[in-house]
Amino acid sequence: MTQPIDLAASVRSIVDYPKPGIIFRDITTLLGDAVAFRQAVDELVRPYAGLGVDKIAGIEARGFILGGALAHQLSAGFVPIRKKGKLPHETVRIAYSLEYGVDEMEMHVDAVKPGEKVILTDDLIATGGTAEGAVKLLRQQGAEIVSACFVIDLPELGGRRKLEGLGVEVRTLMEFEGH
Ligand code: AMP
Repeated sequence: MTQPIDLAASVRSIVDYPKPGIIFRDITTLLGDAVAFRQAVDELVRPYAGLGVDKIAGIEARGFILGGALAHQLSAGFVPIRKKGKLPHETVRIAYSLEYGVDEMEMHVDAVKPGEKVILTDDLIATGGTAEGAVKLLRQQGAEIVSACFVIDLPELGGRRKLEGLGVEVRTLMEFEGH
């Protein structure tokens, strides 16, 4: 068996992007590395094997890339959670908080059935506002949130605690300091 690689080393950090004071954690370098991408997906799905997960819900846009891979590995369906106005069929919508202000996200009204076991995924959890909105939207439709998983946690911003406060188990592969 090959030795696992240091996944954090495959994430690119861009200082002062998109604005001063933010360090953007760019996972396109991880996704572009076949070994790192495979390992990240394997590590994310491992705890969920055999749980009978019905759907993976991915948050636009990087959550779609991870979510598709996780859904395939777990033989689950995939549900896109998108910014408002992008989905073609009837939707349900929720407002969620951003660092400055609010926005709205949507999913198709028939994307999950009551009682379905769902795992939420995105590339990164910061304040947790985005994931909190997605959890509430999924629960409104009757989904049972089994867990939420992210490649990266920014622990100083408290997103993990926010989700755990909603009773959601959180799994992440690595942590970075700062914003
Ligand atoms: P939040 O709602 O504060 O947890 O923010 C999470 C969302 O914003 C995710 O979809 C991330 O892709 C994105 N995001 C927030 N902060 C960063 C960062 N420092 N680097 C890359 N993406 C980020």
